[in-house]
Amino acid sequence: MKADPAVQLRLLDLQGADTELAQLAHRREHLPELAALAESDQQAEQLSGQVLDLQAQLDDVADDQRRLENEVETVQTRTKRDNERLTSGGLPAKELEGLQHEITTLARRQSALEDDLLEVMERRENIDSELAALTQRQQALATERADLEARRDAAFAEIDAGTTRRGAERSQIAGDLPADLLTLYDKIRANSGGVGAAMLRLRRCEGCHLELAGSELNAVRAAAPDDVVRCDNCRRILVRTGESGL
Ligand SMILES: [Zn+2]
Repeated sequence: MKADPAVQLRLLDLQGADTELAQLAHRREHLPELAALAESDQQAEQLSGQVLDLQAQLDDVADDQRRLENEVETVQTRTKRDNERLTSGGLPAKELEGLQHEITTLARRQSALEDDLLEVMERRENIDSELAALTQRQQALATERADLEARRDAAFAEIDAGTTRRGAERSQIAGDLPADLLTLYDKIRANSGGVGAAMLRLRRCEGCHLELAGSELNAVRAAAPDDVVRCDNCRRILVRTGESGL
């Protein structure tokens, strides 16, 4: 393939633009904020699970509390009724004894129920404070997330502006190149880690960093300035400049 030496030099500008575009794309994909956001999502999900679990526990405790309160009320009603019968007088001795026995039993029952009730209320308080702590962590996480999103968006905006600018430069350079040379360059670039053209500097291919020697060096030296030469080792287009050391 033949191409004017000035056109071949433009390949290095094209390569510079493509390398920067690839770096920008890589940076966009690997922003530290993206990993931090994924981590934050995971934490938020975990916290939501814990909140749901505690809310279920709270429902159970509330049921227990209602049940105990109802029982206390029943015991109190019964005690009140017994006391009324006791004070109304006129009861036979046997019935009186039975009534006093029941009042004692009811008092013990009420005391036990009230102990249980206290325990349930204590559990409820513990769950409430755990829930409050979790809510606080959720809020802190949401604040942190908003901050991460803002930083991600700022980085995206900067990267996208750079991509647009370099992309326009790339199109302009590519538009100046002959189609066959551009096709060859793009094909090599796709198969060679993003580098299609490399400068020959001090007899070294800057694509694979091997130094040209022997018959290969002689062939490059003998090539006409408008011959498109390629590295024998990496097959990239070798662009000759004043620094090639030929
Ligand atoms: Zn090479």
